[in-house]
Amino acid sequence: MNDDAQTVFLNGEFLPLEQARVPVLDRGFIFGDGIYEVVPVYARKPFRWRQHLKRLGGSLQAIGITNPRDEAGWTELVHELIARHPWQDQFVYIQVTRGVARRDHAFPKDVQPTVFAMSSQFVPVADALRATGVRAISLPDERWLHCDIKSISLLGNVLARQAAVEAQAFECVMFRDGYLTEGSASNIWVVRGNTVFCPPRDRLILEGIRVGLVEELCATAGITLDIRRITREEVQAADELLLTSATREVLSITSLDGKPVGDGRPGPVYEKLYAAYQQAKAG
Ligand code: PMP
Repeated sequence: MNDDAQTVFLNGEFLPLEQARVPVLDRGFIFGDGIYEVVPVYARKPFRWRQHLKRLGGSLQAIGITNPRDEAGWTELVHELIARHPWQDQFVYIQVTRGVARRDHAFPKDVQPTVFAMSSQFVPVADALRATGVRAISLPDERWLHCDIKSISLLGNVLARQAAVEAQAFECVMFRDGYLTEGSASNIWVVRGNTVFCPPRDRLILEGIRVGLVEELCATAGITLDIRRITREEVQAADELLLTSATREVLSITSLDGKPVGDGRPGPVYEKLYAAYQQAKAG
């Protein structure tokens, strides 16, 4: 199936992607006033669905949009979308904006949120890239102070990712006031020996659904987890650096700012966590 044959959901109906239209006064288009979710689907089942649903509700609440569907309603929508596509593994994108209204920064009254969802084929990270690990560059985190909200206002993230791409890197590793925050579209983990370090779940990072998952995987794989602020020096002295996201799962960063991380190859903690992640998917 090519992308042209994708069926999407928009405001209550399923329709071909190329027929889906949003009015130009949608506040998502005008102000980036909305939130989103990205949910991986394995063997036609949304993975960590309950957690994604909870984060979706939290993002809506944080920006004052009444959740347009209850849990059963979202679950039905997502299963219907999955069923309409041929792939076993997919990733579902959900977006809710405040809706369509005359342009004014303040919230409009009596406006229906715009609800959009689409599904694409899940394309795993290429084996060759997994084997070598990926390059990253460090960048100052110049985003706002509510990175915990999964907002569609992604300009800061877009500019950071573009800077990484222009430096022939796969991702960036961002720092605010000398402390590690996250990547442009991923959480970043520092490994020292058999301990994995992760920045605290505060407003400076998006709590990836994989953060809770890796926490669980560390416990079962006998890896120590330490959640605390991490300095730039600690990142530079890491034995391993990892990134996690719905689409990349767990991936090893083997070069930072042109220098090898540890011995420059994916390390034992990465191998353990990646194996545990694959098991969690299958279970
Ligand atoms: N941080 C940011 C800024 C992201 O965009 C993402 C990807 N959605 C993540 C972290 C990782 O979140 P998740 O594990 O839910 O994909």
